[in-house]
Amino acid sequence: MNSFDWDRGFQLDFDRTTGFSRGAKTTKRTLSQMRGMFFDEDAYGKALEQGDPLIYEFYELGCPERPGDLAFGTTVLYPGTVGDEYYMTKGHFHTRRMTSEVYYAFSGEGYMLLENEEGDVRALPLSSGQAVYVPRGYAHRTVNVGKDPLVVFFAFDADAGHDYGTIETRGYRRLILRGEEGVQIVPNPKWNEREGA
Ligand code: MN
Repeated sequence: MNSFDWDRGFQLDFDRTTGFSRGAKTTKRTLSQMRGMFFDEDAYGKALEQGDPLIYEFYELGCPERPGDLAFGTTVLYPGTVGDEYYMTKGHFHTRRMTSEVYYAFSGEGYMLLENEEGDVRALPLSSGQAVYVPRGYAHRTVNVGKDPLVVFFAFDADAGHDYGTIETRGYRRLILRGEEGVQIVPNPKWNEREGA
């Protein structure tokens, strides 16, 4: 259990390459916990028959969900694909839609996939040394298109809340796929057709 002094301040280390901290434990997301998130359901089923790989892990440091607090941590997103779709985080809106977030990539190569409820979609490069600003109202998902872990640091309003259900139900409007000529960002033909979360 992670426990820190959010009222009087604290210090915590994060390795600048791996993103890991000696002072806290990560929450883990394996393939079996991402059912319905990947486009190619046959490839997903076949991958699960081979095992249940770790897709990503991240720090939930237990920041109180109070106005004025800043939750922060790192996410380590492993390289790989399900079918042609790169490993990614589940992605979420903030429950309080008018809250933002900032990400900084320590290492690796990827994208931040953004979309808002009006249908504005952006895929911003997020690779080693780059920061991305996730504006108010945008769902956000990290995608690893490289050969190494994509390691990012994030900070957001602690009382923003997480809405995973909207994305779990209808998916993202775009997919980031491995193509013959590199990364392809394509419309998701299954968008908005999925069953309830
Ligand atoms: Mn967020």
